[in-house]
Amino acid sequence: MRCPECDATENRVVDTRASRGGRAVRRRRECTVCGARFTTYEYVEERPIQVLKRSGAIEDFDRTKLLRSVKIACAKRPVSAHDMERLIDDIEDDFSRQAGVEIPSVTLGSLVMQRLGPLDRVAYVRYASVYRNFQEAGEFQEFVDEMAAVEARDEQRRNQVELPI
Ligand SMILES: [Zn+2]
Repeated sequence: MRCPECDATENRVVDTRASRGGRAVRRRRECTVCGARFTTYEYVEERPIQVLKRSGAIEDFDRTKLLRSVKIACAKRPVSAHDMERLIDDIEDDFSRQAGVEIPSVTLGSLVMQRLGPLDRVAYVRYASVYRNFQEAGEFQEFVDEMAAVEARDEQRRNQVELPI
C-alpha cells in the first residue's frame, strides 16, 4: 500500500479495528519514510453501498466526500478526527445492516446531523443551516460546495479581523 503523501511502500499498522458492523477491518497505517498516517479498509468483496440521488441516478457511497463535509462543519471546533471518523463509521454500519438497499442522498445529511448534535452544537448548527438548502437542491455535491463556501467566508472574516489597521 503506497503512502498517499510520498509514495513509499513501507509502512506499519498502528491501529486495527472492526468497522461496518464487523464486515470490514479498518487499519491506521504510518509511513515509515515520511511519517504520514493514512487509513485502509479490508472488505469482503460485496455490492457497495449505493446512494440514490433525487434525480434518480445511483452512485457508490463516497466516504471521503461525507467525511469532508463533516470536517468542514467541525472546523476549529473541539471535535477530534477520531470522533469524525467514528461518526462516518456508525453511518456506514447502519447502511451495511440494510445490504442491497439504496440510500436516498437526503438521508445522508439527516444521519450526520443526528450524530453531530450530541458532539458539538456549533458544528451541528453549521451543518443544519446548509442541510436545509441541501434538501431543496437535492444534490450532495452542491451541499459539499456550499460547506466549502461557508468555510471560505469564515476564513475571510478571520483574516479581516486579524489584519492590522
Ligand atoms: Zn510517506
